[in-house]
Amino acid sequence: MIDFHCHLDLYSDPNPTLERCQRLGLGVLSVTTTPSTWPGTSQLAMGRPLIRTALGLHPQLAKERRHELPLFDRYLPETKYVGEVGLDGTPHCRTFWADQEVVFNHMLGRCEEAGNKILTIHSRKAATPVLDALDLHPRIEVSILHWFSGTQSELRRAVDRGCWFSIGPTMLRSTHGRNLVEAIPRDKILLETDGPLTSLQNKALRPWDTRLALRELATLWKVEVSEVEETIANNEDFTWSL
Ligand code: MN
Repeated sequence: MIDFHCHLDLYSDPNPTLERCQRLGLGVLSVTTTPSTWPGTSQLAMGRPLIRTALGLHPQLAKERRHELPLFDRYLPETKYVGEVGLDGTPHCRTFWADQEVVFNHMLGRCEEAGNKILTIHSRKAATPVLDALDLHPRIEVSILHWFSGTQSELRRAVDRGCWFSIGPTMLRSTHGRNLVEAIPRDKILLETDGPLTSLQNKALRPWDTRLALRELATLWKVEVSEVEETIANNEDFTWSL
């Protein structure tokens, strides 16, 4: 199993978490929120083949970290994975929307030039502008929409574009989230936790908590958990080997 969106570097002590992942055979796509954290975070994956690191600049930090874009350009050749990137349309983040657009479009342009990148994308209250931005960069082939929370029509547009969706246990707790997940093609679904930024019962999620989503998916799809596991494993094999 693979956690496709986890902020490993934000746990107070990431090493025990990493060691447990290794013992359990769990893969993690470890995302960063600023380019300046790339060296330290990618170091965590050294000697741990199941951990892969993504280079990102979180939209919520677009204003305060925009000056780090040259670092993004410098580190980009070191990785195939980019994230967390995207746009955030919640009221506070709307106040620096122009910075968000500059930052996101810059990174999309660089990814498109470089080719062969896999992106994990934040689109809270901004699914339409994220999809518009992706449309302007048609050579970006693999985008994974993380914790998608847009409308059903935005979802259809993303599906038509060939997007993947990483979903976590928390998304499956809301009716809107479950309705969205039901409408996503089963062969486009990956798992995530968004830990430690996301908690359940006041406990920060860890990569092995992806399995909580398996049970919810089994209920939703009216199949056995083993069948969900098989579907997810096929999707993971495909994306992890791209
Ligand atoms: Mn995140």
